[in-house]
Amino acid sequence: MENKTLAVLLDDVKGGHRLSGKEALSLFKTRGRQVWEIAEAADVVRENRAGNVITYVRNQNINVTNLCVNACGFCGYSKKPGDEGIYFHDRAAIRKKVALARERKVTEICTVSGLHPDFTTKSYTDVYRWIHEAAPGIHLHASNPMEVAYAAKKSKMSTVEVIEAMKEAGLNSMCGTAAEILVDSVRKKICRQKIPTKEWVRIISEAHGLGIRSTATIMYGHCETDNDRVKHLAILRDIQDETSGFTEFVPLSFIHMNTPLFKAGQARAGATGREDMLMVAVGRLFLDNFRNVQVSWVKEGIKMAQLGLIAGANDLGGTVFEESISKGAGATNTDYLDPAEMERVAKDIGRKLRRRTTLYELV
Ligand code: SF4
Repeated sequence: MENKTLAVLLDDVKGGHRLSGKEALSLFKTRGRQVWEIAEAADVVRENRAGNVITYVRNQNINVTNLCVNACGFCGYSKKPGDEGIYFHDRAAIRKKVALARERKVTEICTVSGLHPDFTTKSYTDVYRWIHEAAPGIHLHASNPMEVAYAAKKSKMSTVEVIEAMKEAGLNSMCGTAAEILVDSVRKKICRQKIPTKEWVRIISEAHGLGIRSTATIMYGHCETDNDRVKHLAILRDIQDETSGFTEFVPLSFIHMNTPLFKAGQARAGATGREDMLMVAVGRLFLDNFRNVQVSWVKEGIKMAQLGLIAGANDLGGTVFEESISKGAGATNTDYLDPAEMERVAKDIGRKLRRRTTLYELV
């Protein structure tokens, strides 16, 4: 792209122009110092839309089981019957973890797990009730469209009925995971047992329609093309136009080391720094109906996450406290990020750190 053309396009976007798919594609293909120009424009848009505060939430993960009927190629976490290291947290174990979360002044508990062969809708709703019993008032950020579809199939219910049952049991917001790349040809390569794009879109929209808001994610840096990324972002933007149900966009950089996909030579060794930065920046510029863009320190490490915060992001995610999924795929230092370190990182780029709730109210 000509420098002038890029400058004009970025000025237009800053002035409110909605990026087309073709324009977003040209931004993803940018190399060299023009990457900084895109990051700078995204940072300006971030400031206008979300202000100068960097937010985070005190949260804790509870991965209920790592036993899973699926075998996604990018997953280094799930186990099959007979494997070593299988776990399932029962009521007593979950209550213990929730008690610990309360001691840590956590406001959000997040549960996503493997698709246990014996799970039904009741298995999920039981877990949600146990969590609320042990920590009344805590925000439960749980499930995702794949878990909803699985529970529906196992319990012979509609997906709307499953979401209603989950809501009744205390589900407060939904994880926008299992999206990976919302292009079926890519899904066939990386997670062929997962629900197709159309079903993911339908279920997340149903959740929004029932008053359950969700995050929106993309998992990139494996075998998708720039064009696939654009198609994915366009789907998220269309859903947001319809429902306004997404709380934030969270780019998830592929952790490759222990994954079957990488070991089989079917994926590259994750995104580069340029790609990580552009995913945040182009996400911010393209998703003009999202207020919040989060950087994942779990996936990118805190140094790259800090750069994302001056390339369009306004949120650092959560303290986490316990993390198994990225660790299973080969990531290190994923268990806990001290707000004192978040504060240091925020101050270093001239911004203030503030704690928030899951739904982005400042605490
Ligand atoms: S990504 Fe989720 S659904 Fe896929 S194998 Fe791993 S735990 Fe199972």
